[in-house]
Amino acid sequence: MKKRVITFHYTLKDPKGEVIDSSSGHEPLGFLEGASQIIPGLEKEVIKLKKGDKKIIKVPADEAYGKRDDRFVITVGRKELPPGDIQVGQQFELKSDQGAHVVLVTKITDTEVVLDGNHPLAGVDLAFDIEVTDMREATEEELSHGHSHGGDGHHH
Ligand code: ZN
Repeated sequence: MKKRVITFHYTLKDPKGEVIDSSSGHEPLGFLEGASQIIPGLEKEVIKLKKGDKKIIKVPADEAYGKRDDRFVITVGRKELPPGDIQVGQQFELKSDQGAHVVLVTKITDTEVVLDGNHPLAGVDLAFDIEVTDMREATEEELSHGHSHGGDGHHH
């Protein structure tokens, strides 16, 4: 079967029903089937739908952004970070051999700063309120690039 590009509107909520993210008021989100453009737990359900379908898709943390991992929480000396004001809730990009990694400041003392490198949605079970707005065959260009080119197949 030919791979498809599927476009959908979504509202993402956490288990308390709080809206985390939504495509409402924006272009719908499109993805190329099988290209890992969206989280696996969502893709596996969206590909079963048809154009025009609406569904609430629940994705457990394991199939979304994974479990929280305490190994990603590190304490560093205050001096190891760039000078200036650092506040709890602030995000940094740390560069290492493995590439850039976004970390969140979760605690500050006079001498130390605690950084959490877990994805903000790690450990969170997600619920996506989905409406499929379009489903079409992928173009040759999209297949060779390995991603979708927007709803009409031209936008890059
Ligand atoms: Zn491309």
